[in-house]
Amino acid sequence: MTEDCLFCTLVRDGDHVAATDGFVAVRDINPQAQTHLLVIPERHIASFREIGLFTADEDKRMLDFVADVAARAGLSDYRVVVNAGPGAGQTVFHLHWHVLGGSSIGRMA
Ligand code: AMP
Ligand code: ZN
Repeated sequence: MTEDCLFCTLVRDGDHVAATDGFVAVRDINPQAQTHLLVIPERHIASFREIGLFTADEDKRMLDFVADVAARAGLSDYRVVVNAGPGAGQTVFHLHWHVLGGSSIGRMA
């Protein structure tokens, strides 16, 4: 827990749409798609750049939870995005995965 971290606060007090051991999912406050969820680890890691701090077990459980959150939101087609670093659009420095889906999600890359 980092006192001044928005997502540490969301993990503790937020309105979670799903949760599992060590991870939560919330709705993005500024959705960029019909469905826009954020998957956030309880453990404070600043960025995907530091993903090496996760254990192999955490890696797997986080990815499984990302897929589970999408399925539970009723999404079969969706996009998973991580913005790593400010140059790529990261604005909150607590690791999170965007799960975007719904109509007109289209193709990105
Ligand atoms: P990023 O720009 O990749 O760091 O993503 C941060 C995301 O957090 C943005 O999509 C914001 O809309 C979202 N966000 C910021 N504050 C909140 C909040 N209080 N609750 C939910 N989502 C938030
Ligand atoms: Zn944090």
